[in-house]
Amino acid sequence: MNVLTPRELPELFAALAAPGARVLAGGTDLLVRLRADLRQGRKVPSSLVRLDGLEELCGVAREPDGALRLGAATTHAGLLAHPLVRVELPVLAAALADLGSPPIRNMGTLGGNLCTASPAGDTLPPLMVLGASVELASAAGVRRMALADFITGPGRTRLAPGEIVTAVLAPSAREFAVRHFEKVGRRSALAVAVVSLAALLRLDARGKAVEARLAWGSVGPTVWRCPEAEAALLGQRPTLTALKRAAAVVRARVQPIDDLRASAAYRSEVAGNLLLRLAAL
Ligand SMILES: Cc1cc2nc3c(=O)[nH]c(=O)nc-3n(C[C@H](O)[C@H](O)[C@H](O)COP(=O)(O)OP(=O)(O)OC[C@H]3O[C@@H](n4cnc5c(N)ncnc54)[C@H](O)[C@@H]3O)c2cc1C
Repeated sequence: MNVLTPRELPELFAALAAPGARVLAGGTDLLVRLRADLRQGRKVPSSLVRLDGLEELCGVAREPDGALRLGAATTHAGLLAHPLVRVELPVLAAALADLGSPPIRNMGTLGGNLCTASPAGDTLPPLMVLGASVELASAAGVRRMALADFITGPGRTRLAPGEIVTAVLAPSAREFAVRHFEKVGRRSALAVAVVSLAALLRLDARGKAVEARLAWGSVGPTVWRCPEAEAALLGQRPTLTALKRAAAVVRARVQPIDDLRASAAYRSEVAGNLLLRLAAL
């Protein structure tokens, strides 16, 4: 298998045009899958095209509209160490701090997490509540789309053949007084989410919610939103009483599945309970 390290985007697109070529970012998902495919005699890519030789895919910058541009090949550790991410996107920083382990955060990238499109991907719920979009590029040009449209199912995205994610555009969440991410797994470290919640609440001068954005991971094929629970919080202070009412709405509407890691009933209960944490913030 060839491993190529292009230094410029046109070189990358040419390499990806070869039949059976595949993008390799940090490799923390792909190499695990390739090893299993090799063991089971399944077809593997003819070449791996690395992203880490392309400077323009790495780092954090400010867009003209004020949003942050997060390079798709930036590692989780690189994002977490960046002051703009910590100050303006704390809900994402909280998820990154809990993603995998130090070696996984040093190798794994934001673009890889999105393109794997796992229902348990930790960066997905925070990026959804932030209203993030993705920038995609191929030899045919550049386009942008909302992250909510980009991920279409478990392991499925709207990436076209020969196309890569170059960046994530995330508006600042500074005006949201309540920002929270929490994941519940089967152990306290290196855990795959059984349920996760990302939440942003914007409060008025009296402490009442004027905007609520909630997104759960691992309770559906993609990130799950609950507009009815968001509506239940509007005009309310995030007290335990108000949050309990919204949590009941969540439990009534969420439709998770049973799998190896947890039962549907447990997931429903926890999806509601995670909201109650907002009372303590
Ligand atoms: C031990 C372990 C623990 C883990 N823990 C967690 C966890 O707690 N939370 C979590 O969310 N994930 C976890 N993961 C999964 C994984 O680390 C993350 O999803 C990571 O972000 C993947 O990024 P990567 O750069 O390694 O992607 P890769 O493995 O390099 O690529 C993944 C897929 O995305 C494609 N791809 C990558 N980048 C791009 C791009 N820019 N454009 C187009 N396609 C692209 C690749 O072709 C491949 O199909 C864990 C993995 C391991 C092995």
